[in-house]
Formats: sequence, C-alpha cells, structure tokens
Amino acid sequence: MQSIFYERATDMDHALRLGQQPGAAFLGGGTNLIDLMKGDVEHPQRLIDLSHIGLDRILELPDGGLRIGALARNTDTANHALVRLHYPLLAQALLAGASPQLRNMATTGGNLLQRTRCAYFTETAFSACNKRTPGSGCAAMQGFSRMHAIVGASDSCIAVNPSDMNVALAALDAVVVVAGPQGERRIPMHQFHRLPGSTPHIDTVLEHGEMIIAVDLPAPQFARHAHYLKLRDRASYAFALVSVAAALDMDGGTVRQARIALGGVAHKPWRMQEAEALLAGHPLSEERSAQAARLLLAGARPYKDNEFKIELARRAVVRALRTAGEGA
Ligand code: SF4
Repeated sequence: MQSIFYERATDMDHALRLGQQPGAAFLGGGTNLIDLMKGDVEHPQRLIDLSHIGLDRILELPDGGLRIGALARNTDTANHALVRLHYPLLAQALLAGASPQLRNMATTGGNLLQRTRCAYFTETAFSACNKRTPGSGCAAMQGFSRMHAIVGASDSCIAVNPSDMNVALAALDAVVVVAGPQGERRIPMHQFHRLPGSTPHIDTVLEHGEMIIAVDLPAPQFARHAHYLKLRDRASYAFALVSVAAALDMDGGTVRQARIALGGVAHKPWRMQEAEALLAGHPLSEERSAQAARLLLAGARPYKDNEFKIELARRAVVRALRTAGEGA
C-alpha cells in the first residue's frame, strides 16, 4: 500500500510552497484525480488541498470581463447570474457535462486538467498506453477507437480531451491564469492544452509546482448568438462523440465575427481561425457554414471505428452555427 500525505493549504503562498515538493499534486474537487488514484493510474505522494484559500470566487473585471476562480464549482459557475447573462455558451457547456452530483464537486481548475477517458488509459490491465506509461505503445490504435481523435493525433496517442467546459472556453478566447514559483503568467486557452506528439503523457503547458488560480473571460461579445451542441450516445452523463461551441457576433443577418471550437475530436479543443474568418462579413448561410466545417476538419484522419465522426462533426458545426444564428 502506498502512503499519501494530505495537506490543506491555508493561503496561496502556502499552497505554492507545498506544491514545490516532489510528488505533490493539487487537489480541487477530486472528481477526476481521486478516481485515477483509486484506479492505480495516478500516484501522487502528496495531495495539496486548495479548497480553503479563497479561489472559488467569480468576479467582474475592470475591462468588462469575468474572472472565474479555479476552485469555483461547475454548478456555481453555470448558475451564476453574470455567466448566464453574458456567457451562456459556458453555462450550456458546463450543464452538458457529467451529472448534477459531479458538477457540485468539480472545479474550474480540475475541469481544465481533466484527463482523457480513453479506456486503455484508465484500465491498467492494458499495458500499452504511452500516456500512462511513456514508451509502452498505444492499445487504442489497434483496439476500439470509436471515441478517439480524428484530428491532431499522433502515432503515439489518439486520445481526446473529454471536457465540455474547455470547448466553450476555447471558443470564448479565455485566458488561464497560473501562479508558480516565478510569479504569475497568463496562458491563452488555445495554448494551454497540448497535442500529443511524441509526449502524450504531458497534457498541458503547466510546469511542476504551477497552480491554476483563475480563468479570465474577455468582455462579452457573443451573449446573444451562442450555442453548445453535444452529440453523445445517451442524453446525459456521457462524454461527447462530437461537440461544437459556436459563437457569433451578428449585425442583423451578417456575421461580424465567429468562433467555432470542436470537442471530442482531438487532444485539445479544436479551433481554426481560417474557418472562422470564412464566415466573417457574410450573411450566415448553410453553404458558408458547411465550407467552414470542411476547412475546420481538413486533414481529418479516422481510425478503425470512428470514420463516422468526420461527417458527424461537419454536420454538427452547421447545425450549431444555425442555432447560434437564430439567437437567444
Ligand atoms: Fe494511451 Fe493515448 Fe493510446 Fe489511449 S490513445 S491508449 S491514452 S496512448
């Protein structure tokens, strides 16, 4: 049996000091990390509990944006009046994820760091998983790949990021605020998660000892025309086969700006500015939306069981844009 030290941080400085220790991991709601520890997938030696250091607040920013504390619970964020009013895309995505009980516990920071639900990663009976054991291979490549990536994968890993929240945050140009031994840094959401490359065991650009303290949302632009579409095998408590966060800034029937992020298709939320630019300055139409979808998925590569995802994703983009265009 492996012993684990549990330490409750009393403030930010204390948390950062504790987080420097070898084998330390920060603990938020524990809905993913504790599961992985029970499953023998993750083996931290020290758990640093961040629940009592005041990182659960949601605050307006001077520039009109919103700061969501890293320890804000998913339920509280989804139901916050300013989130519902100005960032309905985020509220929809959060409420599409997990179950009410899990959302009551899960936090913003934990959701950002959620690990893949690839069954070969979470089930240690399968020895080949480069994400769990670097250099061991990838059982999913020759295994059951229905839930796996169609874009951005590598020969080392074809897993997808499982979060709904992350997809909405990517579309909204959120910024992840991080504190570490060298001070604070701000990481644009599209740079926070990594593609797998040859090092799929590294999910994000966080360094050891760095701690997510908040997510900043820019001043709202997409409150009236936003839609989160999640397609999955059952109506609730299931991960996305494909999801789309679509956000439009409209001038009458014409698109001023568009944001499209895909979930369930890659190791990170999938965005492409060229596809969004294709919509800007034009009336929203099925034809143009389909062109944007094709561009977004250019280079898609299916695996044995997931070719259907390419057409599903294209159609989902068109439908999400149409619904977003109809307005709140
Ligand atoms: Fe592991 Fe990635 Fe392969 Fe899944 S897809 S078995 S997480 S290396």
